[in-house]
Amino acid sequence: MIKMSKIKKSFGRNQVLKGIDLTVRKGEVVAILGPSGSGKTTLLRCLNYLEKPDEGSIAIGGFSVDCKRAGKKEIHQLRQRSAMVFQQYNLFKHKTALENVMEGLVVVKKIPKEEAKQRSVELLEKVGLGSKLDAYPSQLSGGQQQRVGIARALALNPEVILFDEPTSALDPELVGEVLSVIRKIAKEGITMIIVTHEMSFAQDVANHVVFMDEGVIVEEGNPYELFNDPKEERTKQFLARIR
Ligand code: ADP
Repeated sequence: MIKMSKIKKSFGRNQVLKGIDLTVRKGEVVAILGPSGSGKTTLLRCLNYLEKPDEGSIAIGGFSVDCKRAGKKEIHQLRQRSAMVFQQYNLFKHKTALENVMEGLVVVKKIPKEEAKQRSVELLEKVGLGSKLDAYPSQLSGGQQQRVGIARALALNPEVILFDEPTSALDPELVGEVLSVIRKIAKEGITMIIVTHEMSFAQDVANHVVFMDEGVIVEEGNPYELFNDPKEERTKQFLARIR
């Protein structure tokens, strides 16, 4: 379903991704863990082409690009296959919750307005915001804004949703409501990759866990094994620190 091969990315002299290979199966929920600065966010951004990888190839749902050679059209086609949920929500401040969700449907997918509206209302209801359709981001809590972000990603009907530390900007009491929405959509079989510091959530929701450090995947496997019986010294140290 998703295959990233030999992905490399540098910022100036800082090589942040040192040849990443990652395979994700359809319907799988993959959690990416690792210390701050290990390249987790950059990896997600490369997959969504918010950052252009220097080398390697990316395939999503049978469509693949060679990152060195990819032209605008190919990149556009690849980007349509994933949707990102950001740490800082990235909502349009001057649009309502409903308009935020509709935007991608109308502008990117060219779906007629009435149809886009109907679908957006359904999705906002699904994330528990049926009563907040006309609220602006400033009138919503962080948790509510992030749920709009999730509805917006779902609206695009992507092959995979990428979550970049979706709860890290939230006050602790608002984390639960966002995680429970993510848990709910995970159960529907949507393929997801989640960068998270919420270990118990990762353990509970993910089918597969990837541990990154210094731009490489150090270890990956099923959550039970990775959390309870890590093989690599660096994984053991990381888990010991955060427990
Ligand atoms: P993580 O998500 O694991 O915390 P990141 O992918 O955010 O790690 O960052 C990895 C490294 O890449 C860090 O050293 C960071 O400073 C650097 N980096 C990330 N984005 C940029 C950028 N746009 N320009 C320069 N350096 C960056």
